[in-house]
Amino acid sequence: MILCLRRSAILLLASLTCLGCSNDKAASASSSEVPAQSVTQPSAAPSAKSIEPAGPALRIDAARAMQYTKEIVAFGPRWDGSPGMQKVYGYLKGKLKSDQVEEDVFTAQTSIGPVPMRNIIVKFPGAKDGVIVVASHYETNYWLRNTNFVGANDGAATSALLLAMADQLRGKKLEGYSVWLVFLDGEESMTRTWHTSDALWGSRHLAQKWQDDGTSKKVKAFLLADMIGDADLDIYRDENSTPWLEDVVLQAATRLGYQSHFFAATNTVEDDHIPFARAGMPVADIIDLDYGYNNSFHHTTQDTVDKLSVDSLKISGDAILETIRLLNGMANIPPPVQAQPAK
Ligand SMILES: [Zn+2]
Repeated sequence: MILCLRRSAILLLASLTCLGCSNDKAASASSSEVPAQSVTQPSAAPSAKSIEPAGPALRIDAARAMQYTKEIVAFGPRWDGSPGMQKVYGYLKGKLKSDQVEEDVFTAQTSIGPVPMRNIIVKFPGAKDGVIVVASHYETNYWLRNTNFVGANDGAATSALLLAMADQLRGKKLEGYSVWLVFLDGEESMTRTWHTSDALWGSRHLAQKWQDDGTSKKVKAFLLADMIGDADLDIYRDENSTPWLEDVVLQAATRLGYQSHFFAATNTVEDDHIPFARAGMPVADIIDLDYGYNNSFHHTTQDTVDKLSVDSLKISGDAILETIRLLNGMANIPPPVQAQPAK
C-alpha cells in the first residue's frame, strides 16, 4: 500500500476528500485533517530546464513487461510466507540469473511475529562514480491473504518493469552512473490500518544498511516505481519526494511527449522512498494513486491485469529510463543531505 496523507489537486476544491487514498484511509484522510509527516527535502534545486541527456536512449519492451506482469500474477497472492511469494522470488532470480545479484536477507519483527524477508538488488555497473537506483516492491498484503488479491498493478507491474529494464541494461557498457534495480520486500503494512512502523520493512532495512556502510553517499537518485501500470495513468507530484529530482522526471516525460500523464496534481505519499530520503538520498516516488474510480481498485481483488495497459507500462518505463539519461547528463547532481533521525 502506500499511505496518501493528503492531496492538493490544483483544480479541485480543497474540501474534497483524499481520492487517492486507500479505501480504509479515505474516510479519515481529508485534505486538511491529517498532519503531513513530510520528509525535509533539500531546497537547493538545480534547474532541470537545460539538461542534455547523456548516452544512447533506452526503451523498454512494454509488451514483454506486460507478459512478465501476467507471469508474476499467475503465481497468485504473494504475501510474505506464502507459496506464491516463494515462487515469485524464484521467478525473479531465474530472470536475473546472468546478472550481478545481491540479496539483503533479514527477519522483520512485525505485529504478526517474525517474518523472513529478502530484498533483491541487481547491479549494472557504470563508468561514472555513483549509483542510480530504481526500486519496486514485489510482495502483496498479508492482511489480504484470505482473498485472491494479486496486486497486478500494486507490485507485479512495477516488478515486471524492473525486469524489462534489466533486459535493456544487460550486456551494455554503461557510460553513465551504475544502475541498481531493487526488488523490495515488505512494503505493505501487515495490518489493514497503515502504520509506517509496521510497513516499509524492506526499504527501512536496506536504507539503514546503506547508511551504515556508506552506500547512501553514492546514491545520486532513488527512483521508486509503484502502481504505474494503470491503464488510466495519472502520476502526481509527491511532496515527500525531492523537488529537483521530480523536476528531472517531469523533463524526461516531457521529452517523450508523456507530460500529460505527469504531475497535474500533488499528493503527499508514504511509500518505500521515505526511509531512503531520511537516510539522505534524493528520492522520487513515481506513483499513480488514483486507480479506478475513487481509487476503488487499490487493495481489492479488482487489481487485476485487465486494468493495466501496455501503453502505460511503456510510458512509465521509458520515462524512468529517460530520467536516468538526464541524470547522467547533469553536470552537478546535488550531494546527499544529512540523514535525519528515524521517527
Ligand atoms: Zn499496496
